Amino acid sequence: MNMEKEQAQAYEKAFLIAGDAVGFAERLVKENARILDIADTIEKRVIELGGKPAWPVNISVNEIAAHATPSINDDNALEEGDMVKIDIGVHVNGYICDRAFTICIGKKSHPMIEASEKALENALKMFKHGTKVSEVSEVIENTVNDAGFKVIRNLTGHRLERHEQHAHPSIPNIKNSMQDEIESGNVYAVEVFVTDGSGFVVDSSPSRIFQYRKDSPVRLWEARKVLEMAVNDFEKLPFTQRWITGVSPLKMDMALRQLIEVGAIAEYPPLKEESNALVAVAEKSVIVK
Ligand code: MN
Repeated sequence: MNMEKEQAQAYEKAFLIAGDAVGFAERLVKENARILDIADTIEKRVIELGGKPAWPVNISVNEIAAHATPSINDDNALEEGDMVKIDIGVHVNGYICDRAFTICIGKKSHPMIEASEKALENALKMFKHGTKVSEVSEVIENTVNDAGFKVIRNLTGHRLERHEQHAHPSIPNIKNSMQDEIESGNVYAVEVFVTDGSGFVVDSSPSRIFQYRKDSPVRLWEARKVLEMAVNDFEKLPFTQRWITGVSPLKMDMALRQLIEVGAIAEYPPLKEESNALVAVAEKSVIVK
């Protein structure tokens, strides 16, 4: 199956902007940099280049593998030795490019980061029509194990769909017996998480990433306002408190809680390595021609 021209052009633009944003972000991640400044600056850059953030920039440090993003008045800064994972999503007209990389502050590299990048590189070589997903997974797990580390077994890569960041099939990082095949015309994100811990993530807190699920009546007008923005401004893709305008910070948490209770939005809590071990990630998106 071949892509429509308009779709192909949107993807091309999203991929270019994401590539630029990654290079730009790499220069921002350094000792004493405030995570709020890093996230704001990357998101602004994406918009200036003509894209939209497909989700809030994730800045996940050390044992947090993913789904952390700065709060509205976040004061946290990066420190020497921090294992910093930046995950950037860019969309153009709903067509998404998903990228992530890891930097260990004060070090040129780190064996864990090198293992994630090597596994990603090996996996990407296999993205041809007809390759079994299970073959890709096996290459990823073997590469990481050969480097002396473990993959995180409950985090996966995935296919990307218009306005849908995690479409079927997933691309597990562990060996499996999935029958799905890589298909031309599809877009996939390969996302390799590496650790020296137990290789499993659990929910942590506080959640700062949310996503529209369904329309539901809610009492607070602030909650209705957030839901309206979730649909109109964030196009049903993930968002965070930093992006919500016109709602008092005092009412923000109450509004979000009401929406979660009625199932109007879902929350994505930060994911923490179960044994509090360091985690590195390397992720790229690929269009299968
Ligand atoms: Mn991803």
